[in-house]
Amino acid sequence: MQRVVCPGSFDPVTAGHLDIIGRAAGLYDEVIVAVLINVTKKSLFTVDERVEMLGQVTARYGNVRIERFHGLLVDFCAANGITAVIKGLRAVSDFEYEMQMAQMNYRMAKVETLFMTTNPLYSYLSSSLVKEIARYGGDVSGLVPELVLGLLRERLAEEE
Ligand code: ADP
Repeated sequence: MQRVVCPGSFDPVTAGHLDIIGRAAGLYDEVIVAVLINVTKKSLFTVDERVEMLGQVTARYGNVRIERFHGLLVDFCAANGITAVIKGLRAVSDFEYEMQMAQMNYRMAKVETLFMTTNPLYSYLSSSLVKEIARYGGDVSGLVPELVLGLLRERLAEEE
């Protein structure tokens, strides 16, 4: 069985993330979406909230499972029988950092990284940009799942 992981912060999950997750689900037996627990980085949604959102928006895929992880991704892979990491590549700007991570993960544990080119519809899309636009009242519909749109509005209203 080929089990792969899509790691990230998913704060919150966007249409770009979902596109990669859905395409990976079509290629592999099982896709684990792993939410990084990063206590030093300020997030808009808690890890529990992000896991819950991801669970709901990926419910249509029978072979996608949501987990959380901290520490090294290669350790998470070893503990879960994961052979490869799937990453979305948006632009050349993603490339340098992603290549460094991929090569380091291979060196540490022979974990492979496979890059999927972004859907051109979402190549400019990131969670941080979505949050920034929504914070100033901009329209982010179509960029995040419907469910996330509502939660984003609620959370930003609470912040005011
Ligand atoms: P973000 O940069 O949106 O905060 P994350 O850390 O949550 O992203 O990203 C997790 C993974 O999803 C990374 O591999 C990243 O390259 C990928 N990704 C994020 N946004 C997109 C997108 N719009 N298209 C394709 N892949 C994406």
